[in-house]
Amino acid sequence: MTDGRFSRQVLFSKVGKKGQTKLAKSKVTIIGVGGLGTVCAEILARAGIGTITLVDNDKVELSNLQRQSLYTMNDIGESKVQSAADHLRKINPGVKLKINKTRINENNIDWFVKGNDLILDCTDNMETRYIISDSCCKYKKPWIYASVAGAGGSIMFMHPKDVCLRCLYPNKKKGETASTSGIITPLTHFFASVQTTMAMKYLLEKKYNKGLFVYDLWNNTEKVLTVKKNPKCKH
Ligand SMILES: [Zn+2]
Repeated sequence: MTDGRFSRQVLFSKVGKKGQTKLAKSKVTIIGVGGLGTVCAEILARAGIGTITLVDNDKVELSNLQRQSLYTMNDIGESKVQSAADHLRKINPGVKLKINKTRINENNIDWFVKGNDLILDCTDNMETRYIISDSCCKYKKPWIYASVAGAGGSIMFMHPKDVCLRCLYPNKKKGETASTSGIITPLTHFFASVQTTMAMKYLLEKKYNKGLFVYDLWNNTEKVLTVKKNPKCKH
């Protein structure tokens, strides 16, 4: 903080010097380092989050470069978590990065949830989201659900004391993804900005806005849907 790296952010009254120190002590896990994950990782590294854990099993492909902003032509064929970490270290060497070249499953998820302050869902499939949700309920950890495709999507801050993914979608098998519905370049940057702002607000104030936020960027519309705990959900 002595080099003035965070001087502009510290000026913002909700952050301040104390808040910046809080961010430096925070630990966030990013599951999926694709369209949402690369932008979230970049924003959180620049914002001064102390420890960032990255989880992804994929390699960088040409079709990723349209939106996955940490990667360049030189990264094609390389591991996403390794490439992302190399770029993040150049952006802010003060961040502690933990990289995991693996795919999330029921057996490894707990390792990425417990001991962290917040989990960001930057995946593209419902199966993994249920695994994240169940583990976060088990350890009473908050996480941020985000789903994007085409020119829109939805996002929700999930706190186990409040609701879980099974309250929102008791049995949703499939969601739209970039591979099925396509995706425009600005979409992931927009959602990652919302997701990381929610993250910073929670890390700083332990506060979050309730509800499922649904954005359509093409038509410039926003809806907020109330989500209540499902009485049948045992979370
Ligand atoms: Zn629930």
